[in-house]
Amino acid sequence: MLPVPCLEDLGALEGRSVLVRVDFNVPLTNGTEIADDLRIRAALPTLRWLLARGATVTACTHLGRPKGRPDPRYSVQPVRRRLEELAAEVELLENLRFEPGETANDPGLAERLVEGHDAYVNDAFGASHRAHASIVGPPRWLPSAAGRLLAREVEVLGGLRDAPRRPFVAVLGGAKVSDKLGVIDALLEMVDALVIGGAMCFTFLKARGHRVGASLCEESMVDHCRELLDGPTPIHLPYDLTALGPGGVLGDPAAGGDVRQVGADVPDGWMGVDIGPGSAAQFGDVIHEAGTVFWNGPMGVFEDPRFGGGTGAVAAAMAETRALTVVGGGDSAAAARRFGVDRDMDHVSTGGGASLELIEKGDLPGLAALRQRNATGSNAAGDERDKQGGADAT
Ligand code: ADP
Ligand code: MG
Repeated sequence: MLPVPCLEDLGALEGRSVLVRVDFNVPLTNGTEIADDLRIRAALPTLRWLLARGATVTACTHLGRPKGRPDPRYSVQPVRRRLEELAAEVELLENLRFEPGETANDPGLAERLVEGHDAYVNDAFGASHRAHASIVGPPRWLPSAAGRLLAREVEVLGGLRDAPRRPFVAVLGGAKVSDKLGVIDALLEMVDALVIGGAMCFTFLKARGHRVGASLCEESMVDHCRELLDGPTPIHLPYDLTALGPGGVLGDPAAGGDVRQVGADVPDGWMGVDIGPGSAAQFGDVIHEAGTVFWNGPMGVFEDPRFGGGTGAVAAAMAETRALTVVGGGDSAAAARRFGVDRDMDHVSTGGGASLELIEKGDLPGLAALRQRNATGSNAAGDERDKQGGADAT
């Protein structure tokens, strides 16, 4: 994968003003309380590095999905208060998506954003698959670099593509095959084996001739899944399942409905909602024997404790294996936290869609923008550094 310029490439920053695109799109309760400040803390290494070099730092982020105009429900004010406690010197601009030009990638907005700044840093990995104004615009005008968080994501996820320790195993689950078809196709070219659970497994099980009952299954994808199963890369599917009977409600054990272990065929009216214990153990063995494991997508409806067994078993195997372990995907990262193994992973990606797109395509619009800028050779801060003999490049 192509490298991106890093913070050191910006040269001397004393007295310079740096615009940093961060991903502070944190979950808020009641629009006022930050439920989880992980994304704010994740940007601190970059913000503090810049401050320590004497730069004035202005951060900008989107928050939620306001409709291109100011909306107090999506104000960054709660984030500002938390940032004040963590890095008081950093100024935070108001929600970028209060401007219609952000998602429309309006060069006018980007030009206004860069005004008064001497350099641009992108540390918003989770938004770097979007060609939005604050992501791809600033490098047209300013010397630009990837922040620490973004650089680490590129290093780890790029490493999966370029030189994975083998055997390289991908464990996929989650809701829909169609969402992830691109990354499945790309992974099949890279991995030594694919392990499939989650709702996704039913489209594959159907392609193998199994009955799926009332499980989620994408009929239009069955033929494609059959082709993948006939391909050269081994694909492990569950041979037992946990199913919820007629009348049962996901997330509501009190509503009744039987829960039963079944084989790879789901009876009519029943819904497969987790991989069974046998398959969970088998998937665990594959993970234990791997050199590298990439995990995206829960193995079942883990939000309901009745159906968290498969995801918990995969999480435990990920924590125990000696393989390099990488987790991508919003719900998968939440699952790793839920089962208390997030700290045992080598890398938990901060981007859901971005991590999958980077693995699939090997590049993102935000990364390409940073490189494009450097390729022009008119990097002002770089020229400055050359004059100073690269004194700041350590
Ligand atoms: P990620 O965000 O990690 O990429 P997805 O968004 O693709 O993951 O999928 C996560 C969702 O998939 C979870 O909310 C989970 O409840 C759901 N899911 C997993 N297995 C099943 C299943 N067998 N039936 C229905 N939903 C499932
Ligand atoms: Mg998700």
